[in-house]
Amino acid sequence: MRIVYVNGEYVPEAEAKVSVFDRGFLFADGVYEVTSVLDGKLVDFAGHAARLNRSLSELEMRAPCDEAALLDIHRNLVDRNGIVDGLVYLQVTRGAADRDFLYPDAETVPTLVLFTQAKPDLKDPAKARTGMDIITIPDRRWGRRDIKTVQLLYPSMGKMMAKAAGADDAWMIEDGAVTEGTSNNAYIVKGNTIVTRHLGEEILHGITRAAILRMAAEAQMKVEERSFTVEEALEADEAFVTSASTFVMPVVSIDGKSLGNGAPGPVAKRLREIYLDESLAKAV
Ligand code: PMP
Repeated sequence: MRIVYVNGEYVPEAEAKVSVFDRGFLFADGVYEVTSVLDGKLVDFAGHAARLNRSLSELEMRAPCDEAALLDIHRNLVDRNGIVDGLVYLQVTRGAADRDFLYPDAETVPTLVLFTQAKPDLKDPAKARTGMDIITIPDRRWGRRDIKTVQLLYPSMGKMMAKAAGADDAWMIEDGAVTEGTSNNAYIVKGNTIVTRHLGEEILHGITRAAILRMAAEAQMKVEERSFTVEEALEADEAFVTSASTFVMPVVSIDGKSLGNGAPGPVAKRLREIYLDESLAKAV
């Protein structure tokens, strides 16, 4: 049975418990991170730890422990669960307090939960070869998407809409422009130029996005961080998404219309290879 971490203890998952008064449960008053594991090591742990701190400070939430302790817990869980390729999910909530919209007093102990998921096909999932079909849906999320909160109901609805349409995922549209995927950042490629939405409160600042943009620049590709429309995406040579749990995934159709020749494009393939190589080399 899987061993999970809850508030200072490593316990079998069936014995792991949090309070019914936990603000994560009652108000979605919590933030999270997902760090991938390759060959038993953590990919870009420092990036995820830094974004976690930013999410916490934007919400005036106490950090449950320091970065070194967090790294220790991640490694312990990977070891105890024998994870080779997979991920570590981490969630911090404002803790348990009598139900009140106002934040409880600052002494309230935050809840810290971590668990692992094994993903044996993480390095080479079938979709990386065939590419994903996506649909577009309106972006109906709240306005602070740069904070990685656990309010994931709309993204969850979006994945269900995609599934109902026979697609793999959805890109969200606001004011005529693509914001991002339900759980990933969105990119299009035209010629030698990669376009992805600029940072702001409208999207999550992907840790994989930051790495991919750096790698693209190092590989002499041109990068434009700006809004783009679905119409522009349909005219693109190729498209892809990035996230910590999927790395780089090609997109081959949008709303039923094929992109380019309908197969994963060379830029997405190349960036996926570069990302995997560098992540394997630098993982901790
Ligand atoms: N955007 C959204 C809405 C996401 O949920 C995620 C993944 N959690 C991402 C982008 C990608 O971020 P990262 O590369 O840090 O996983």
